[in-house]
Amino acid sequence: MTTLKDQLSARVEEYTKWEIRRQYGAEGPNMRRLWVLACMDERLPVDEALGIRADSPVGGGDAHLFRNAGGIVTDDAIRSAMLTINFFGTKEIVVLQHTGCGMLSANGNDLVSALEAKGVDVDKVPIDPSLPEMSLGAGAFGKWIGMMDDVDETCMKTVDYLKNHPLIPDDIVISGWVWETEFRRLRAPTTNDDVRARTQYSTGTMGVKGPQPPRWS
Ligand SMILES: [Zn+2]
Repeated sequence: MTTLKDQLSARVEEYTKWEIRRQYGAEGPNMRRLWVLACMDERLPVDEALGIRADSPVGGGDAHLFRNAGGIVTDDAIRSAMLTINFFGTKEIVVLQHTGCGMLSANGNDLVSALEAKGVDVDKVPIDPSLPEMSLGAGAFGKWIGMMDDVDETCMKTVDYLKNHPLIPDDIVISGWVWETEFRRLRAPTTNDDVRARTQYSTGTMGVKGPQPPRWS
């Protein structure tokens, strides 16, 4: 019989390994050697959707989890993926986006107009105040916001961008998935509208008019 003393000793040892894991670089990977790119939406339960435990130090630690608006490729998504894949032993990428996403809920051009109405010059705002070398070309701010026309198409393109990026080696396994917020169900990205029925998968289904600034073209 295992005593409580044995169990607690093992747990303390696991905590110690957890704390110093990063010191071992590629020899100290997360439990599933996994990087997840997911939307920041609070209605997207990453652990439930993927059947992993990303955050808990006891029985968890499955992934490095990166969340932003939409779960899309951005400069910092590339930066973070590059680090975990090339230096921390990660071998797989999962992209997780979802229906009813806020990034489908407005047109990027309208958001630019709203900011300009507040007196913001979107062509002059620092994109990264700690790195002034990083800047957008004039008129690119609307694209930079990254509003989507269609979550499935965006998910597939996000996977393609990662697969074809020179900082992501060819042997990394990369897949993309869509969480149906309406039904708490995961599905593969698809353009089949029969499969997507009764979900908010596009700007059209969310009542937004006009194509987005062409980030995804
Ligand atoms: Zn979202």
